[in-house]
Amino acid sequence: MPLLKEYEPFTGPQTIEELYLLAEKTRPRVIQNINSTAVGGGVAEILSRMLPLMQELGVNAKWDVIKGGEKFFKVTKKFHNALHGKSEEITQEDFTVFDEASEMNRKSMELSGDIIFIHDPQPIALVLQKNSLKAKWLWRCHIDVSNPDPKVWNFLRPFIDLYDAAVFSAQAFSPELPIRQFLITPSIDPLSDKNKELSLVTIESVLKKFNLDLEKPIVTQVSRFDYLKDPLGVIEAFEMVQRHTDCQLVLVGGTATDDPESTEVLAKTLDRASGNPDIHVLAIPSGSDIEINALQRASSVVVQKSIKEGFGLTVAEALWKGRPVVASAVGGITLQVVHKYSGLLCHSIEGTAHSIKQLLQNPEYAKKLGENGREHVRQNFLLTRHLKEYLLLFLSLFHKGEIIYL
Ligand code: UDP
Repeated sequence: MPLLKEYEPFTGPQTIEELYLLAEKTRPRVIQNINSTAVGGGVAEILSRMLPLMQELGVNAKWDVIKGGEKFFKVTKKFHNALHGKSEEITQEDFTVFDEASEMNRKSMELSGDIIFIHDPQPIALVLQKNSLKAKWLWRCHIDVSNPDPKVWNFLRPFIDLYDAAVFSAQAFSPELPIRQFLITPSIDPLSDKNKELSLVTIESVLKKFNLDLEKPIVTQVSRFDYLKDPLGVIEAFEMVQRHTDCQLVLVGGTATDDPESTEVLAKTLDRASGNPDIHVLAIPSGSDIEINALQRASSVVVQKSIKEGFGLTVAEALWKGRPVVASAVGGITLQVVHKYSGLLCHSIEGTAHSIKQLLQNPEYAKKLGENGREHVRQNFLLTRHLKEYLLLFLSLFHKGEIIYL
């Protein structure tokens, strides 16, 4: 894990000094993060980078994962989709499965933090333990809940209302709640294996490993195999592009232990791609960070054709690498891609195809978008900014209404 001072070239010295000052004030508190998976997806990605930095600052931060069987994660995936506004059939039995697993976790987990920092809906009901503990409770929602299915939202609301505060990624997601709310955007770690600079030799060896053509332009989407990431829509757009330009598509992704839908989506994607030798569907194990890094860096265009997106770390990852991005104008993506400045936003399969074609045919324009994107990420979406906002948030829980002097 890199040391904090290694981030200075990106942030300047002041940010690092501020982190040490804020950490000193936070230090006596224990921060207990809880989510539903240790690997796969954006939440685990962020926690795995954030925790070591907090620890280096001397902040006592830990990370626990709730337990749940296949039934529970099927239900929570339905909740996830429904909160994003996707139509899902949710039964009374689903709510019972959720309640039973939550109760089991309440009984078996040791809740020992001064701040219990719950990520996303899966562990949300742990908050029923609140009265028996002195801790402050935070709910961090990574989902775009601007248009949630009321059935699921109304089921979760009584839990949310018990928290001391909630954190959302964008103003547009923020619902009316009786508790305090904070807006904090996610971030990427510029020094992780996923994002650090790579040599040309490493990049080429990854391309060879996956049997990619080193001479042909690459169009890539990195995502868990999930309907909301629309891999089939990406293939359709790519095939429109292919009629005009010789290029290859890489759909690279894995699964997450809390996402039981991914096997089905992967099978459908493989089926749809079969017969087209220029489409490479790569199902790779978690932790393949160098591979993802290399594929992003080797891409002429990076696509993120999500139907809904809380933030989309994959977009920030591509922008940080100076890649031109074509992405759907949804959720947190619009915080990152400013249309025609740091990428191209689109609203349809045809629009996606048109934008990919435009960038493949105009490398100078594509390069400029990529450069702007990297600077936008440097200023707004690096881990150090995120860490500072979290430390301020922790302090504000104990100093409500006070000015905190650094
Ligand atoms: N990711 C990965 N392996 C994969 C697919 C995705 O490591 O096979 C990473 C990806 O690089 C990003 C994170 O998982 O860091 C996904 O976060 P994002 O916010 O884009 O989407 P989420 O999966 O949380 O919906």
